[in-house]
Amino acid sequence: MSRVYNFSAGPAVLPEEVLKEAAAEMLDYNGTGMSVMEMSHRSKAFEEIITAAEQDLRDLMNIPDNYKVLFLQGGASQQFAMIPMNLMKKKEADYIVTGQWAKKAAKEAAKYGKVNVVASSEDKTFSYIPDCSDLPISENADYVYICENNTIYGTKFKELPNTKGKTLVADVSSCFLSEPVDVTKYGVIYGGVQKNIGPAGVVIVIIREDLITEDVLPGTPTMLQYKTHADAGSLYNTPPAYGIYICGKVFKWLKKMGGLEVMKERNEKKAKVLYDYLDQSKLFKGTVVPKDRSLMNVPFVTGDKDLDAKFVKEAKEAGFENLKGHRTVGGMRASIYNAMPYEGVVALVEFMKKFEEENL
Ligand SMILES: *Cc1c(COP(=O)(O)O)cnc(C)c1O
Repeated sequence: MSRVYNFSAGPAVLPEEVLKEAAAEMLDYNGTGMSVMEMSHRSKAFEEIITAAEQDLRDLMNIPDNYKVLFLQGGASQQFAMIPMNLMKKKEADYIVTGQWAKKAAKEAAKYGKVNVVASSEDKTFSYIPDCSDLPISENADYVYICENNTIYGTKFKELPNTKGKTLVADVSSCFLSEPVDVTKYGVIYGGVQKNIGPAGVVIVIIREDLITEDVLPGTPTMLQYKTHADAGSLYNTPPAYGIYICGKVFKWLKKMGGLEVMKERNEKKAKVLYDYLDQSKLFKGTVVPKDRSLMNVPFVTGDKDLDAKFVKEAKEAGFENLKGHRTVGGMRASIYNAMPYEGVVALVEFMKKFEEENL
């Protein structure tokens, strides 16, 4: 067996240790004689799995008691609708558009109320984060929405926007658990887990209790109400049980690694290797304003489409997978999530150096 270095943006690399553990427990989970895939979500064994997963996440992120943790389905994209359906009491919200995902979220919300785009970086292909220290926040906005780490473009909010007292809602799909976070600054933090935590199929929503009400937009389906899931401890219906189990294992792995402070240091060290190389390369260059660079997703180009394609092809042959940039932007992108080892990034940079020598 040989594993590649997988730079996919998502679904993405998971800790090898977690995969091995899951493999060992595949046929008989903890003496139950069955796989987690085969057991009732109402069983004692699964109850322990979901309870521990929630507690470990609470420990890692230091989530205050007045926030609920929900394990949902439907992908991050379903939250684009759930958020306005549940939170747009005054039928108005402010969106900061820093990439495709925020743009899609704003478009979806506009089905349910008035959406004000209060800042955008679309003028320069989303290659930076706009100054959000003094935005024209709307009087009637129920919340201010951001996508905190832009998976496709490789930018990250290093400072949260000044929402002038309005509730902040953040899509953290691609930076979830990559560094410590002050949960109290947000009303809602959510993300699909398939970028930095676990297998596709689970969305984690961390939501302040006062935002969970029955006062939702008329016609909101039961399944799309936060209250439904909060009241039932994420067990209103069958949850994505196996995915939650793997997330729980990743939480334990993160705790063992030393928690989010340590992950941040590791992620900074990894990203620096790649950015430092890009900054002095004569062939490759990064596409993002340096101060707004993501620690998780690193897009770069040669400036020549054919050479980009040659690089992606040769990299793949050398065991570096999924380096092709998003279909909407081209070039390359290395996603270097929590589970990507330091050695993987060093090996990639060595490969890039060699390619540069051969192709310059
Ligand atoms: C991948 C991604 C999404 C979409 O996730 P789905 O689970 O496929 O709906 C939304 N937001 C961000 C930031 C993403 O990276």
